[in-house]
Amino acid sequence: MGKVAVGVAVGVAVVACAVAGMVVGRRVGSRRKWKRVVRVLKELEEACETPVGRLRQVVDAMVVEMHAGLASEGGSKLKMLLTFVDHLPTGSEIGTYYALDLGGTNFRVLRIQLGGRRSSILSQDVERRPIPQHLMTSTSEDLFDFIASTLKQFVEKEESGSEPSPVRTRELGFTFSFPVKQSSLRSGILMKWTKGFAIEDMVGKEVVELLEAALVRSGLDMRAALLVNDTVGTLALGRYHDADTVAAVIIGTGTNACYLERADAIIKCQGLLTSSGYMVVNMEWGNFWSSHLPRTSYDIDLDSESPNPNHQGFEKMISGMYLGDIVRRVILRISLESDIFGPVSSRLSIPFILQTPLVAAMHEDDSPELKEVAKILKETLGISEVSLKVRKLAVRICDVVTRRAARLAAAGIVGILKKIGRDGSGGITGGRSKSDVKMRRTVVAIEGGLYTSYAIFRQHLHGALSEILGEDVAQHVVLQVTEDGSGIGGALLAASYSSILQRG
Ligand code: ADP
Ligand code: MG
Repeated sequence: MGKVAVGVAVGVAVVACAVAGMVVGRRVGSRRKWKRVVRVLKELEEACETPVGRLRQVVDAMVVEMHAGLASEGGSKLKMLLTFVDHLPTGSEIGTYYALDLGGTNFRVLRIQLGGRRSSILSQDVERRPIPQHLMTSTSEDLFDFIASTLKQFVEKEESGSEPSPVRTRELGFTFSFPVKQSSLRSGILMKWTKGFAIEDMVGKEVVELLEAALVRSGLDMRAALLVNDTVGTLALGRYHDADTVAAVIIGTGTNACYLERADAIIKCQGLLTSSGYMVVNMEWGNFWSSHLPRTSYDIDLDSESPNPNHQGFEKMISGMYLGDIVRRVILRISLESDIFGPVSSRLSIPFILQTPLVAAMHEDDSPELKEVAKILKETLGISEVSLKVRKLAVRICDVVTRRAARLAAAGIVGILKKIGRDGSGGITGGRSKSDVKMRRTVVAIEGGLYTSYAIFRQHLHGALSEILGEDVAQHVVLQVTEDGSGIGGALLAASYSSILQRG
């Protein structure tokens, strides 16, 4: 071998050593990076843990807060609002009724024809209309004139060609899903706006009066028979289909629940007289709080950056408005601590850029290569070209956040069941074993896009319900999806109360 050849050989060996060294160095670096990632993930998992013991603590805290909210005004973060609904539909309702459902980005007008038997909705027409953005921050007169004119067009369209309607004034149920302090079935003042509405002149005003003034201005012969919250509408529709329905839960953009309570248990209204002995209570459970809730640093940041810090704590861990943003915050943190997601994408810092339906789509991606995950990471979060291992990590984060949400919602439901003695313990803790107690069939009406459209969320919720209650009790508890209950239920209640008034 000549000198030159030796030189080349040595050079190659040096380069080979250097490359090998770099590979080893990169491997060590990458291992260190993954260690950091695993640490962040582990911290998240531990902070979000919801073993059944902890869920039972949440159940008990919910029961305690329900008692406190019923005992005195402001006695708890649970407002436990009176609804004045003391009768739920029985099936005997008959005739044509209308409803107006105002609760978010859309509002709906509905008309139903009832046949006088349980579950006998002979016809049902619904019209959905987006609320023009400028009306959400305009004046109450503008908003209600728009609503009244839409309603008038709907009524005229529905009634054209059909028999002229009987002389009686048309009855309308008004579902209004904002916090309202009610003083009777058809009167209540708006306490505050949520969900992007900000019509200042309306806060503190009687909601039904504003609607009726607009109905008069539009020349429509229609009377608002009652004012209800969307959870109450859901309960009414649930009850119309199934007499064992005792509560309703909404898990959509926000979350809330209502249930049927004994009037004498509503201590803050001593002497409250209802002919049935019961009243539906709107819990406003989104605002529930307990130190037993598994809170993470991501929740704390989300809350402090929200327009309503220290409010809606339960909702911020559970509902569709927030889950996506919790997942975004975790991915951002991992991205800042390691480069497994590539260079830190500026999109990760945009609040609410990752919406919950996308979390569901990543979570439910069953393609072997996780193509949907890759697509969402790229198109929504600006994270491209990540390995399968990293895509799996993203799915894991979705699961941790969703699982906690679903299991906490389950604990909330059991809280209601426990409060009304339907959790199999006979209303008392301890004592008899659950299997000794004859459990009554118990139905909870449930609605909202998070529950109805996200199968894994539903599975986690059902799993937790069985764990907390035990299989033998859980088999008697039915979660029944009601569709469009918030609106239809309003019309059903208008029908129900109209027949009560007619009977005198
Ligand atoms: P709202 O609560 O506004 O009355 P919905 O009950 O229809 O409306 O719920 C809509 C919410 O449900 C959305 O804001 C979203 O958070 C959630 N959602 C809708 N579709 C899905 C989905 N496929 N996966 C997960 N969440 C969903
Ligand atoms: Mg709704």
